[in-house]
Amino acid sequence: MISFTAEQEEFRKTVARFVDAEVVPVADALDERAEFPTGLFKRIGELGYFGLRYPEKYGGAGSDMVTYCLFAEELARGSMSVAAAAAMQSLMGTYFIYKYGSERLHERYLAPALRGDLVATFALTEPNAGSDVANITTRAERRGDGWVVRGAKTWVTNAPVADVLTVAAKTSPERGMKNIALFLLDRATMRGITLGKKIEKMAVRASETGEILLDGVEVPAEHLLGGETGGVEKVGTILSEIRVMTAALAVGLARAAYDAALAYGRERHAFGKPIVEHQAIGFKLADMLTSLHAATLMTYQAAAGLDAGRTLTREAAMTKLFASEMAVKVTDEAARIFGSYGLAMEYPAQRYFRDARFLLPGGGTSEILRLVIGRELDYRRGEALS
Ligand SMILES: Cc1cc2nc3c(=O)[nH]c(=O)nc-3n(C[C@H](O)[C@H](O)[C@H](O)COP(=O)(O)OP(=O)(O)OC[C@H]3O[C@@H](n4cnc5c(N)ncnc54)[C@H](O)[C@@H]3O)c2cc1C
Repeated sequence: MISFTAEQEEFRKTVARFVDAEVVPVADALDERAEFPTGLFKRIGELGYFGLRYPEKYGGAGSDMVTYCLFAEELARGSMSVAAAAAMQSLMGTYFIYKYGSERLHERYLAPALRGDLVATFALTEPNAGSDVANITTRAERRGDGWVVRGAKTWVTNAPVADVLTVAAKTSPERGMKNIALFLLDRATMRGITLGKKIEKMAVRASETGEILLDGVEVPAEHLLGGETGGVEKVGTILSEIRVMTAALAVGLARAAYDAALAYGRERHAFGKPIVEHQAIGFKLADMLTSLHAATLMTYQAAAGLDAGRTLTREAAMTKLFASEMAVKVTDEAARIFGSYGLAMEYPAQRYFRDARFLLPGGGTSEILRLVIGRELDYRRGEALS
């Protein structure tokens, strides 16, 4: 059973009011233009939502994971593009600066990013290495006190507008992933960071995605975040958080699709009655609501587990797997309930259907998540299926 505190309930209502007033009315236009939502991004910063997971000292709110998931869910209900951009800013884009950066870097980058004055992102994926992280080829070589970084990153969220990037690069030529480190790159002060191809995509179109080329970027020693090795382990420390937050995005999107399908089903008549009164449509809605309910329970149970200090590797993987696949299915069924209008740009069903695909690769594909869950069940590790 989910039980939110009065404060969490109030927070959800506040975010929901913002989403209904300022996000829902522009969501279709943002998707159509496929442009970064600059105004809304600044507004989310002003409202303090980027800082939910960070201490007050940096302008954050020091909120728990349940509260953060409520924010992600409500924002995704309004626009998955805006939610994708905000998720990057509030988690991966800023987390490593906060965790491993000096006070100077906190002042210079973290605090402005939490206010929405700087766009921060994270770049790990490369043209030839996605799930297979050990295969990245971006290299960082020592020069004097600092480093020189060379390589190419792709699928970088917010790439065309990013001011600062946490970039994964190898600090020695060996194979494997032990020698991966994280570097903070600043586009305004470091030369050699250029924007490659912008990726035209069918999902989260207003969260722009693109390539970043790193051509001998000189990086001061202070911008190495947390040592020359162990970058993958550092990412691992917030992987459960990323997966549970992604599940919350899935719940928000599926709720929007379910609500739209139910409203349409009540209004649209066929064979003398509202289509929702045809049992086949009613059963679809019943199945959609059931799986949405299950994903919601899993998401907030996992979020509460993280708040209680549990590690949750398996549970977070199961939650993201179930919730993202649920969103793909629910948005598909919703579009079917709209009939031909499920394809029409004047209704949001097609946007929900497209945007659900965004949830599949980030934080581990469904195949990789099944590998993680399976590995966690390995009897040799003494794990029980409970
Ligand atoms: C909208 C969007 C935004 C993104 N933003 C960012 C970002 O900001 N920063 C960033 O670094 N990355 C980002 N990514 C990239 C994303 O993290 C990767 O796409 C993801 O890790 C998968 O990598 P890949 O696409 O190279 O697929 P691959 O790893 O090439 O996988 C291809 C297929 O093979 C399967 N597969 C791979 N290995 C195995 C295996 N061992 N067993 C079984 N099946 C396997 C996969 O599940 C998948 O179905 C983004 C992606 C999208 C779509």
